[in-house]
Amino acid sequence: MSVTTKGPLPAEPYDVTVVGAGVVGSAIARELAGHHRLRVALVEASGDVGDGTSKANTAILHTGFDAVPGSLEARLVREGSRLLAAYAAESGIPVEPVGALLIAWDEEQLAALPGLLKKAERNGYDEARIIGADEVRAREPHLGEGALGALDVPGESIICPWTTTLAYATQAVREGVDLHLNCTVEKVGSSPPGGSECHELTTPRGVVRTRYLINAAGLHADALDRRVLGRGAFTVTPRRGQLIVFDKLARDLVSHILLPVPTALGKGVLVAPTVYGNVLLGPTAEELDDRRATGTTGEGLAGLRAKGRRILPALLDEEVTAVYAGLRAATEHDDYQIHGSPEERYITVGGIRSTGLTASMAIAEYVVGLLAEAAGPDLDLTVAGNLDPVSMPNLGEAFLRPYQRADLIATDSAYGSIVCHCERVTRGEIRDALISTVPPGSLDGLRRRTRARGGRCQGFYCGAAVRELFDGWGESGAAR
Ligand SMILES: Cc1cc2nc3c(=O)[nH]c(=O)nc-3n(C[C@H](O)[C@H](O)[C@H](O)COP(=O)(O)OP(=O)(O)OC[C@H]3O[C@@H](n4cnc5c(N)ncnc54)[C@H](O)[C@@H]3O)c2cc1C
Repeated sequence: MSVTTKGPLPAEPYDVTVVGAGVVGSAIARELAGHHRLRVALVEASGDVGDGTSKANTAILHTGFDAVPGSLEARLVREGSRLLAAYAAESGIPVEPVGALLIAWDEEQLAALPGLLKKAERNGYDEARIIGADEVRAREPHLGEGALGALDVPGESIICPWTTTLAYATQAVREGVDLHLNCTVEKVGSSPPGGSECHELTTPRGVVRTRYLINAAGLHADALDRRVLGRGAFTVTPRRGQLIVFDKLARDLVSHILLPVPTALGKGVLVAPTVYGNVLLGPTAEELDDRRATGTTGEGLAGLRAKGRRILPALLDEEVTAVYAGLRAATEHDDYQIHGSPEERYITVGGIRSTGLTASMAIAEYVVGLLAEAAGPDLDLTVAGNLDPVSMPNLGEAFLRPYQRADLIATDSAYGSIVCHCERVTRGEIRDALISTVPPGSLDGLRRRTRARGGRCQGFYCGAAVRELFDGWGESGAAR
């Protein structure tokens, strides 16, 4: 079991290397970890797992009711939703089955609801139904004026995206996968020179040799494709989604995920509760050239506020806790771009745009299937053992947190000592995160593991204390 953040990389070749430790790459590494005879590496450019698009989404566990029927995405979202719901229950990933209402605000949108209902049924989702304006208002009394009806989709849930990626990576590492962080793959060659036995991945930390390569590089999957194949089947055009996080006092204003009728550009602007007890408004959908443009803009946020005022007017009177933006890896295609290249011993996992969190476990199963086809008897993928379950720290408000658990505090007083008061995060939870299997490399990583500094003061009051704990563990060399 190893996580490395610096220093040289192992010289011995891996059987399979996954590039990119987002939710998709981590899920694939976890799936491969079940095949205990394989030597597997997960290689990530950043200093943490889930530090790309996977950290900045809308955190909905979709049913796939609105996917394009017959597409690979529709199938993998449907399967992934079921798989992740079961995995979350087993691993302690917070999920709340709040359900969604897709609201019709004008006659045209109302007329579109029967078509959306049919689409849901074609996608194998039979629980949706159309409800009238009175029922919509009874279920969401704070909704703005003018809702004419809605599609009720009870199976949509909210989930913690950070714990999901972390759970996959933790389980993969505990089962023997080597996770190499700060390890950008800059060049791909073959080893021995001119030969075809191994891919040779050049990184700033040295070379990783691997017999099979899986590209889960998200926004950079097209560039890696070209490096490996010399050609590419798709080009990523980042589609930015900006979001506003409202204070917990707003949580009582909304019970469901409130969706708009979708447009060609995407699912549109929604209002949704979060498992941390906040309310989200967003995302925007902006086509950009810059793959690093994860900042928010005045214009984007103003546009969101205008749309939010229509959906839930009282929300706009509440305080804003944070704003953020994520980049969807959109391509010129309407579907995921997952392809095997047996000759090159290579699988591309690209174009995982707006549903990758939900579909992650099904994508992982599908990719390992493609790998088995590509490799044949060359890779032993026949024996898959059970993975030891992981038990993740609970970040969700619908479940007991450590500061609320007298039993836990009685055994260890660190769980009774609150460091971040906005989010009620204890010294015990921060310590546990810092010595965990995949420890955070930064204060932001610590926030995603504990919520410390993520509340309404954004670290103004607890920042120094949290940093002292973070630096203290770093200096004592614990787990690093
Ligand atoms: C605004 C927004 C809202 C969304 N809402 C939802 C939602 O509600 N539900 C849902 O299911 N999905 C949602 N999504 C989609 C979901 O977040 C993505 O599909 C998913 O996170 C993609 O994961 P990934 O692992 O493919 O990409 P990433 O998380 O970006 O991971 C790719 C990783 O590869 C690494 N990498 C790249 N190049 C290299 C290299 N050369 N060497 C080494 N490492 C490299 C990167 O550093 C990165 O960590 C949303 C997305 C956005 C942007």
